[in-house]
Amino acid sequence: MAQTKARGPRKLRSVNPRTGEQLAEVPATTKAEVLDSVAVARKVAPEWAALDARGRAHILKAVRHNIYSHLDEIVETISLECGKPRAEALSAEVLQAVVSWLYLERTAHRHLREERLGGPIGYALGLPTKAQYRPYGVVGAITPWNYPFGLALAALGPALFAGNTVVLKPSEVTPGVGEIVRSILEPLPVGVATVVQGAGNVGAALVDAPCDKICFIGSPETGRKIAAAAAQHLTPVVMELGGKDAAIVCADADLDLASSGILWGAFVNAGQTCAAIERIYVVDSVADEFSGLLLDKLGRLRQGASDSDVGSLTFKKQWDSVARHVSDAIGKGARLLAGGPDAGPENKNGSLWYAPTVVDGVSEDMEAMKHETFGPLVPIIRVQDEDEAIRRANEESFNLTASVWTRSGRRGVALAGRVKAGAVAVNAHGESWGAVWAPWGGVGESGYGRLNGRLGLHEFVYSVTIGRNATPGIKRLWWFPYDDATEDAFRHSIGALAAPGLKEKLEHVPAALDSLRRALKAKL
Ligand code: NAD
Repeated sequence: MAQTKARGPRKLRSVNPRTGEQLAEVPATTKAEVLDSVAVARKVAPEWAALDARGRAHILKAVRHNIYSHLDEIVETISLECGKPRAEALSAEVLQAVVSWLYLERTAHRHLREERLGGPIGYALGLPTKAQYRPYGVVGAITPWNYPFGLALAALGPALFAGNTVVLKPSEVTPGVGEIVRSILEPLPVGVATVVQGAGNVGAALVDAPCDKICFIGSPETGRKIAAAAAQHLTPVVMELGGKDAAIVCADADLDLASSGILWGAFVNAGQTCAAIERIYVVDSVADEFSGLLLDKLGRLRQGASDSDVGSLTFKKQWDSVARHVSDAIGKGARLLAGGPDAGPENKNGSLWYAPTVVDGVSEDMEAMKHETFGPLVPIIRVQDEDEAIRRANEESFNLTASVWTRSGRRGVALAGRVKAGAVAVNAHGESWGAVWAPWGGVGESGYGRLNGRLGLHEFVYSVTIGRNATPGIKRLWWFPYDDATEDAFRHSIGALAAPGLKEKLEHVPAALDSLRRALKAKL
């Protein structure tokens, strides 16, 4: 199809963004090889689906064991290729993947079990039903560079445990981590999980192969292209997109806790996080104290080597976008409170440092308020009260997640219920990603479909309703012929169900039973 015609690079460059130095070159997969991978995945899919969930879990735990055996190599590769502190590679990528894998190993069989539906009503109406959950077949997974290990496994896990085979296309920005993911999948039977490498053209070829389900984690712009391409085949898609997440600091917040949590939520992974805090709404009465604490703690962050707190950005396009958002904001009147273009480690030979940056005095016409920055920039926005904060959090941009900071847990939960987002945390931010038992996903611009939890697993199966006629010796009232008795039986049945009072309902019952008996006698 048209969109797969574009050519991409033959080789992908793995680069250390802390220094600009090239680490390796990885060959890109050709379109023909993508189609072969999907064909092999399709061939082995029935055998993989035929295993029961516990049998698959038994095989899949080899991936977790492989992570354990190669932990240092995995963490070094992620840290080097992303410019990410080792602590973040360990926590948000590897620990996250292991916890999610363990959760699936322990629970997938329960979540995928056949379910009885309808209960007594099903029996009363003569059609008790069951829902069976069957895998789609071949899942195409397309993942980004910001958590290249954790997110590849987040897409692979539920798809594989649910009984699909998967062809994964990780980001071309981090091909070294893509190779690591390929190597930890090696113990699986051939064709069950395959990695293809390449840029958008390879992703497009995968969507167009076609696959039976697509799991996409990335930007809204690419999401739109993938949704359009998948629509040509009516392929369902899970869309995990970005956010411009709000943190709301209430007048009664524990400001020490809020400033620490928000500092981390804004600058973890140098802000290159789908759920990074990109807007801080602070109630005016505590704004000065909150800002003071935040800036003081920011001043104590160490940015640099792999054992520091804040890494570099991961690729040039992202650095350019952050620099553009900062200069646009300053040009339109925002005040720089920390960081900015002249702060942080000096860039040479293509290194990608950008200092954690805080501004205030922002307005809605600024790029940084309209679009996801996906980098180390956060504005502080003063509001009169919590109501204004919630209104602006909902109206001024879109949230994948959000957070509310208050000393009253109860009030926090009530306020959380008014914020439009896929997840809202009270006195924490973005942590529900780690709550692997809870569904994760967006709303509106931040995507649709879910990963994690039972709903996440159910994204990768379709339900089949099996109904069994519980009274095969009796013909159905709605079968031919349609005579007066049939009409009366329907009319009185509706009366017995729909009438407002018990007395009126009961008045319909004898007539309903009598006409039912007469109607059934006449059925062909
Ligand atoms: P991106 O959209 O540029 O790329 C994502 C993936 O899509 C890459 O593998 C890329 O090669 C592939 N791709 C590009 N064009 C394609 C096409 N036409 N057809 C098929 N595949 C194509 O995103 P990115 O820059 O890698 O990642 C950053 C974005 O991801 C941010 O917006 C971030 O918020 C979002 N994100 C969301 C989540 C979540 O859980 N919701 C998690 C992490 C990142």
